[in-house]
Amino acid sequence: MAAAVAVALTTVLAATPGSAAADPTAPPTAGVEVEIPGPEHGTLAGAGHTHVPPEGRNRPASRLSATEAAADGEVTKLIDNGPTADRLDIVVVGDGYTAAELPRFRADAQQKWAELTAVEPYTTYRNLFNVWTVDAVSNESGVSGDPAPDTLRDTALGSYFWCDDIERLLCVDQGKVDGYVAKAPEADLVLVLANSTKYGGAGYNEPSKTLGYEGISTASAGNEKSGQVAIHETGHSLGKLADEYFYPNYPGYERYVGPEPADSNITSFTADDLADRGAKWHRWLGEQSPDGGTVGAYEGGGYYVTGLRRPTENSLMRSLGQPFNLPGVEAMIAGFYREARIASPVTATDRTLRMGDTAKALVPRLTGADGRQLRIRWYLDGREMTSLAGRTDVRVSDLALRLLDLRRHTLSITAEDRTPSVRDRAIARTMKSTVSWTVRL
Ligand SMILES: [Zn+2]
Repeated sequence: MAAAVAVALTTVLAATPGSAAADPTAPPTAGVEVEIPGPEHGTLAGAGHTHVPPEGRNRPASRLSATEAAADGEVTKLIDNGPTADRLDIVVVGDGYTAAELPRFRADAQQKWAELTAVEPYTTYRNLFNVWTVDAVSNESGVSGDPAPDTLRDTALGSYFWCDDIERLLCVDQGKVDGYVAKAPEADLVLVLANSTKYGGAGYNEPSKTLGYEGISTASAGNEKSGQVAIHETGHSLGKLADEYFYPNYPGYERYVGPEPADSNITSFTADDLADRGAKWHRWLGEQSPDGGTVGAYEGGGYYVTGLRRPTENSLMRSLGQPFNLPGVEAMIAGFYREARIASPVTATDRTLRMGDTAKALVPRLTGADGRQLRIRWYLDGREMTSLAGRTDVRVSDLALRLLDLRRHTLSITAEDRTPSVRDRAIARTMKSTVSWTVRL
């Protein structure tokens, strides 16, 4: 284990330019940047970054039979919560599953969705997501590098452990992944599940230029700890959060002396400075956080032992199996609303609605323990009709007394999220959607 950690740490200097860990003097490195999961027998969520080849590792491919080829690439909407344009679409692709094992792949995808939605704010906002599976038929069961570094298997995506000589680093062939992802209608996030129980994963958090998704997480399907790694990676890809872990006793990471990082959850300031400046997570200081303890500015974060601080002692951005902290939850919700809209037309908006018509919209139900729901209001020509609040459909005939004339009027529904989990008003302003129809007697 010690050797693998050393390998990981030497490459952390090649982290994203502009991030707290970047070394401006480091030469540009070829390949794709990935985050390395933390060691198996520890709690750390990650172990820095490294660059890996974009290609997978594979036994030379034999051809799929006609039956296998027919099953390959089949798309299934596993979780359907509405139109793709208004939802966050997670696309799950399996690797190392033979044609006969595809039903288990879909069950594994369902299981990982259950693990994800056990973590807030996914629990509350699960109805903002669609989940798609794309069947990838492999000639052999299991993936390369499991159990031994030199194990080679013929799989659809070329997944392999021992990537960059790190046992738990599970890399993929990005081109092959994209080939399958492109078969789904839209991807905001990609999860690659390897048919394995071996601990491992990787975070490819560079947004896709061609397919538009925010990142790829890889995980072993049969390993629960790997699922936690994948959820941590969505903290980067969706929440744009920085790592809150750091490296004691590692040369070069004793003290951060650079400028204030852009990331929302690490800072060079003390809690008092944050409060005085109204900066970063100042609105949460002193509050009880779901990961334990109160929000402050704890020394250590962004890989550095001192000089950078994090909001809480032990959130998911530092340790596996933990919840996001309060600033992390807020950042995740902000990420959800970058992709999702909370009011979608069910009744088409491109024609005038008349007496016999009904205006209907889809507003997702929230599923948090507090029972809180989105606030729904109706307006006619901009004036609120308070008696209709909370409804998702209205008959035009119900409006007859208000329409009064034969002119066209505008009927609209607005759904708004007033969650106490978001305190930043700039984010709160994004958490509202409106659908409008033209109505006429
Ligand atoms: Zn990370």
